[in-house]
Amino acid sequence: MNFDRIQRTALIVNAVILALVFALMGFFNYCDVTFMTWFSIPTAAVYLLGFWLIARDKLDIYVWMVYGWLTLYMCLSTVCLGYGYGFHLYCFSMIPIIFVTEYLSYKLHRRSMRANHISIAIAAAYLISTGYTAYNGPVYQIEQRASAYFWIGNALTVFCFLIYYSNYLVNAVISSEEKLSDMAHKDRLTGLYNRHYMLDYLDEKPAAQTGGFLAIADIDDFKKINDHYGHNAGDAVLKAVAKQMQQGCEGCLTARWGGEEFLIVSEKPFAEGKVLLETMRQEIAGVPVQYEDQTIRVTLTVGISERQPEQSVDAWIQDADSKLYTGKKNGKNQVVS
Ligand code: GH3
Ligand code: MG
Ligand code: MG
Repeated sequence: MNFDRIQRTALIVNAVILALVFALMGFFNYCDVTFMTWFSIPTAAVYLLGFWLIARDKLDIYVWMVYGWLTLYMCLSTVCLGYGYGFHLYCFSMIPIIFVTEYLSYKLHRRSMRANHISIAIAAAYLISTGYTAYNGPVYQIEQRASAYFWIGNALTVFCFLIYYSNYLVNAVISSEEKLSDMAHKDRLTGLYNRHYMLDYLDEKPAAQTGGFLAIADIDDFKKINDHYGHNAGDAVLKAVAKQMQQGCEGCLTARWGGEEFLIVSEKPFAEGKVLLETMRQEIAGVPVQYEDQTIRVTLTVGISERQPEQSVDAWIQDADSKLYTGKKNGKNQVVS
């Protein structure tokens, strides 16, 4: 979420709260809750000042002011009307909102909101106001039917806040974990898994498990491609080849093994692997990569190996590598098994 979006959201939320303040002012006036009617005037002034603070990029002061005033407003409403109206419930929804605000401040490199301190202050204000009301009863005795509507409306709003903000936090955690895992396991240029991920994957394969195939594919004369068309064109070739490899071998695990080398591993039978890789080689050789206005012909040499009983992962990779080397020596653009 960028700052502009947060600023726009804050303006909308501020306008909605201001409208609610006026609506509640009308209600308090109708029910002769004189104190809250008059208290609505400085409350409205606080939100009008809020527009100015948001526009001046003073969001941290705005948040402190609004959270402080809201807490005061909720407590005074509870003292005046009793907790049958459900105003005190907002204290609960304020907590996740404050922690989301703290998270956004961190993301935007802004000052910490001190969410722990604010939460403790809200809990204290809640206890004092509800405790006082429980002990003394509400200051104003007004028509009871209205309290049921308020209770339902306020409780529903509080639940919506709790669900929305808790969901927001969990989604933020999940998406940053996914990003971190991608950064650790994937190659940035091609989007394929990287060498570390592939090594971990292979290490977990039991040595007793035979069958399947492992192939190392290396782009032929890639240095010449770089020299002739430029490094950016070379990058475009790597991306295009990576994409074709993924599409050409569904269910295989494909990783960028080194500069212009790829490692493909699969549980598919070795014979099927040979056919798949030969088709892939022909497709890559047959469809040149288009980069800007250049047409770049790309070929691959592939070494493919079937795992032998009790063969270590290193020996398996070594076998595919030596077949790749044979293919390079024998004219490139071929699959060696
Ligand atoms: P061979 O057919 O024997 O494999 O020859 P080759 O030119 O493909 O192999 P060589 O090892 O001589 O050169 C590989 C080149 O790949 C050298 C290096 O600059 C280039 N390279 C490695 N990583 C990248 C990359 O991420 N992007 C680009 N554009 N080039 C890269
Ligand atoms: Mg090469
Ligand atoms: Mg190479």
